[in-house]
Amino acid sequence: MENKKTEEATVVKHTGSQYLVSNLPEWDVKTCVLKGKLRLKGGSTTNPIAVGDRVLYEKEGDTRGVITEVLPRKNYIIRKSTNLSRQAHIIAANLDQVFLLVTLSFPETKFEFIDRFLVTCEAYKIPVKIVLNKIDLFGNESSDSLDDFKYIYNESAGYQIIETSGKMGINTNLLREECKGKVSLFSGVSGVGKSSLINALDSNLTLRTGEISDYHRQGKHTTTFYEIHPLFSGGFIIDTPGIKGFGLIEMEREELSHYFPEMLRVLNNCKFAPCTHTHEPDCAVKRGVEQGEITEERYISYLSMLEGEDKYR
Ligand code: GDP
Ligand code: ZN
Repeated sequence: MENKKTEEATVVKHTGSQYLVSNLPEWDVKTCVLKGKLRLKGGSTTNPIAVGDRVLYEKEGDTRGVITEVLPRKNYIIRKSTNLSRQAHIIAANLDQVFLLVTLSFPETKFEFIDRFLVTCEAYKIPVKIVLNKIDLFGNESSDSLDDFKYIYNESAGYQIIETSGKMGINTNLLREECKGKVSLFSGVSGVGKSSLINALDSNLTLRTGEISDYHRQGKHTTTFYEIHPLFSGGFIIDTPGIKGFGLIEMEREELSHYFPEMLRVLNNCKFAPCTHTHEPDCAVKRGVEQGEITEERYISYLSMLEGEDKYR
């Protein structure tokens, strides 16, 4: 029997039965199919192999191959198909970082979406930074909503906030630097200026604009294919069009506060362990909220996730 050469690579795109792979950071794309007998331990996910997965494949000529194995994931991020469904879709695997794009107006990104997203990243141990886009809308004027946002997410919760404007090119150089040498996922609700910002990072990338893809998304049977794009300046990005929200992944009630960094910092001081930080006396988290170190906004999000958690099971 012919001894085929096995290589390792990253899945950069998946369409139907074909997987495009490249051995990142090299960009030398090969087209692969799955080996017929390959048994996938996908469990309840709709896509057992996701963009970002490291795979082994047998080379067939210079441009093709057959995937024989999916290597263990460093991390991954999933989305429930619907709130009630047990089926989950893996958006991407082996991420170095996530950029969560947020706007305070036009459109206003709901705190609930932000907090659910951040909790998902924390649960999967994926470093996440907040990109506050359309910062040009504030001009040079001081703004209470901007100050509040920075207090909640940076000073209290501890997340880095990068203020950008794709339109005016504000901090696009900084973001380009942040992307170098890494695989980064860009996410955010539709309309936050994600396509414009990504296009401002690299003019070779002309992603679909929000408006058009939104329109096509109305169709029932449209499937979103995630894809890794190389940046001219270095690094790789994955765009996530059409994300409306996240179902929380399965977790114990007592675990949820571990994914709020400002709560995690103090919860060892709660009298009871485990503590849900709701009815228990002598609770360090509730004390933190009273003293203003933990913000009411985040605590309310926490309570709503704690309460709503049952419907995601
Ligand atoms: P996406 O849905 O997140 O991909 O958003 P788009 O990139 O399609 O932009 C949505 C809308 O926001 C468009 O009307 C853009 O012109 C506008 N927009 C995008 N970036 C900026 C920005 O930095 N500042 C302002 N003021 N508007 C922007
Ligand atoms: Zn407590």
